[in-house]
Amino acid sequence: MTNLIILGPPGAGKGTQSKQLEKKLNVIQLSTGDMLRAEVASGSDLGQDAKGIMDVGGLVSDDLIIGMISKRVGQKECANGFILDGFPRTVPQAEALSEMLANKSLKLDYVIELTVNDEAMVERICGRYTCSKCGAGYHESFQKPAEDGVCDKCGGKDFSRRADDNAKTVRARLEAYHEQTAPISTFYAEIGILKQVDGMMSIEDVTHQLENIVS
Ligand code: ADP
Ligand code: ADP
Ligand code: ZN
Repeated sequence: MTNLIILGPPGAGKGTQSKQLEKKLNVIQLSTGDMLRAEVASGSDLGQDAKGIMDVGGLVSDDLIIGMISKRVGQKECANGFILDGFPRTVPQAEALSEMLANKSLKLDYVIELTVNDEAMVERICGRYTCSKCGAGYHESFQKPAEDGVCDKCGGKDFSRRADDNAKTVRARLEAYHEQTAPISTFYAEIGILKQVDGMMSIEDVTHQLENIVS
């Protein structure tokens, strides 16, 4: 069993790399952003509460997020382990996670931070899009499908962009990251499980480094 966290600001490559590690380790990616977007799309009460905050690039309340993730961690789908992508994002979330794992006799194996420079993140976020059918991630300049307009993974021709992936919201999200999320790298460094990888390298090089850490 391998349990890990991928940390990094919006655009750092958490989703892209989690998908690679999911295959490599046969574990499951738990993305709180994806869970929230599914709640918004379904029109649930939780989704309605979260939407306004996500639209302006703020952080959804700790209680709501902790409740959502505690329903997933420790379930059958996590039998081989999990990759947390986008969680924890605040110190209280990190503390709640420690407690949740202790209660389930689970432990974290790695916390890996993708270090990047903020300015580059604006371009990454503004060029990001996904296949509507299978969710594969792409980028206008950095990760194009082999054939223009056709998804490599499923052949789908329909793509979408996230409502919050615009230059204005990205700035707010980066600010939230530095204020509220960056302190958790210190939290994990102090317990000795933080590793850092240079997230400015190519997608393939970052994948390679991550594989070296977890193998
Ligand atoms: P996050 O989940 O951390 O917000 P993503 O994995 O969605 O970030 O990546 C953001 C965008 O940048 C995507 O369009 C992706 O294709 C692209 N991308 C990811 N990693 C890199 C990289 N190392 N170099 C260039 N572009 C990247
Ligand atoms: P990114 O690709 O920018 O890292 P995510 O998909 O992880 O974005 O998250 C999108 C939005 O969902 C965030 O801007 C925030 O509003 C909300 N969100 C996701 N995860 C959390 C969390 N753990 N705590 C609070 N808000 C969250
Ligand atoms: Zn697809």
